[in-house]
Amino acid sequence: METIREISKPGRKGYSLPGHDIPGVDIDPKWKRKRSAELPEVSEPQIIRHFVTLSGLNHHVDKDFYPLGSCTMKYNPKINEETCRMKGFAMVHPLQPEHTVQGALQLMYELGEYLKNIVNLDAITLQPAAGAHGEFTAISMFRTYFRNKNEARQYILVPDSAHGTNPASVNFSGFKPITLPSNEHGLVDVEKLRELMTDEVAGLMLTNPNTLGLFEKSAQEVTSIVHDKGGLVYLDGANLNALLGICRPGDMGFDAVHFNLHKTFSTPHGGGGPGAGPVAVTKILSPFLPVPLIVRSDDTYTLFYDLPHSVGKVQTFYGNFLVMVRAYTFLRMIGDQGLKDISKSAILNANYIIQSLKDDYYLKYPSFCMHEGVLSGKNLRDHGIKTLDVAKRLLDFGLHAPTVYFPLIVSEALMIEPTESESIETLDRFIAVMKQIRTEAEKDPEILKTAPHDTPVRRLDEVKAIKELKVTWKT
Ligand SMILES: *Cc1c(COP(=O)(O)O)cnc(C)c1O
Repeated sequence: METIREISKPGRKGYSLPGHDIPGVDIDPKWKRKRSAELPEVSEPQIIRHFVTLSGLNHHVDKDFYPLGSCTMKYNPKINEETCRMKGFAMVHPLQPEHTVQGALQLMYELGEYLKNIVNLDAITLQPAAGAHGEFTAISMFRTYFRNKNEARQYILVPDSAHGTNPASVNFSGFKPITLPSNEHGLVDVEKLRELMTDEVAGLMLTNPNTLGLFEKSAQEVTSIVHDKGGLVYLDGANLNALLGICRPGDMGFDAVHFNLHKTFSTPHGGGGPGAGPVAVTKILSPFLPVPLIVRSDDTYTLFYDLPHSVGKVQTFYGNFLVMVRAYTFLRMIGDQGLKDISKSAILNANYIIQSLKDDYYLKYPSFCMHEGVLSGKNLRDHGIKTLDVAKRLLDFGLHAPTVYFPLIVSEALMIEPTESESIETLDRFIAVMKQIRTEAEKDPEILKTAPHDTPVRRLDEVKAIKELKVTWKT
C-alpha cells in the first residue's frame, strides 16, 4: 500500500472554496518559514479511501475476535460514541465557571456513586488516566496514610502472578516490592503471607480474580491477616469484569481498588488511547484522595479542593472526561441486572473455551476459571513450536492472538479472555482454529514457524522495532 506522500501530487487539494475579499497582511519575514511545510496534497476522496484502507489493515474489536487476556477488549456499544460527541460534553472547557457545567459535574458525580456502589467503598476519585496510574495514586495514598501516622513502613507485598504495573507502582510510590509466591493451585500462599506480613510492610496489592483467571477464595482471610498487622490491602480491579453485580471488594476487606473504565466499562483502548483508572477507597483513606473532589449539596455540584492531606493532583483538570461519559452511558444502558449478566457471560465464555481446548493445549491450573483462563503451548515444544508461533498463525485466520508469555508463572502462556460480548459462533470458530493449529503443529510445523502468511506485513523483528523505533517517513 502506498503512503499518503506517495499518492500526493503538487497542487491537488482536498477542498474547494470560492475566493475571498479579506485584505492580505504583510508578515514580518522573520516569522515566515524558509521552506514549505511538505504536506501531502491529495483530493478528498483520495484521503478518505487512504484512511479507510489503513483502518482495515489493522485488527480491531469491530472487525473480529480480540481475546487478549487481562486487557478486556470488549465491544464498545456505538451509543457511547453518540453521547460523548454531544456538544454539551464534547465542547465544554475545563476552566468554565461551575454553574455553566452542572451537567458535566453531575455526570462525574453520578458515575462515582455507581462505581462506589459496585465495589461497596466510601469515596472515589475519577482523576487517574489509566489502571497503572490508579495503582500509583492509591499506593501514594497508602504512603501518605502511614506518614501521617508516623509509621515508616517500607515494603508492599506483590504476588508473583501480578501484572507488571503492580511492582512498578510500588517503586514509583516510594516503597519496595516483596514478591509473594503463589501456591500449587495458583492462589495466594496464605502461610507465606503470614510469614512475610510484618510491621515493616505497608500492605498488599492483590488481583482478584488473579491473572490466572482464578478467584482468590481466601480473599477475606488475606485481608484480615494484613489488617491485623496494621497494613492496607489494595485490589487491582482491572479484572472487575468477573465480579460485577456478584461480589463487592469492599465486602472482602479491600481498602482501595482501581477500575479500568477502558476495560470493564467498554471504552475502546489499546495503542495508548485515552483511559480512566478511578480509585475507590474506604473512609480511612478518603482524606488523602487527589483534589478536586466533586461534591453535591442540594442539587448543585461543586469542585472541592479543601483536603489538606490530599496527595495532590494526579492528572490535568478532572481526568479523561469523555472516557467517563462512555462508561456512564454504558452503565445506564446496562442497568443492575445487566451488570450481573456481564460477569456471568464473561465467566461462561472463558470456561467454554478453556474446557474445549484443555486436551489440545496444556492447562497448568485445572480449576474452573473466571473471566479469563491461561493455557500453555508447552506441549508443542516437541514439534519445535513455541507459543509465539501459535499466536502468529492465528492472525492468518483474521483473529487477534491471546496475550502470550504472561502471567510469568506459566511457561509458554496463552492467556485467553473472550469477554461477554462474543457470540457462541465466534467462540466455536476460535476453538476450531486453535484445534486446527494444534494439528498443524504436529503435521506441518513449518506453516506455524513461518506464519503469518496472509497479513499486510509478515513476521516482524520485534526486538529491532523496539530498539530502533522509526516513526517518520523519508523519501
Ligand atoms: C490492564 C491491567 C493493568 C493496567 O491498566 P492500564 O490501564 O493498562 O494502565 C493493571 N493490572 C491488570 C491486572 C491489568 O489487566
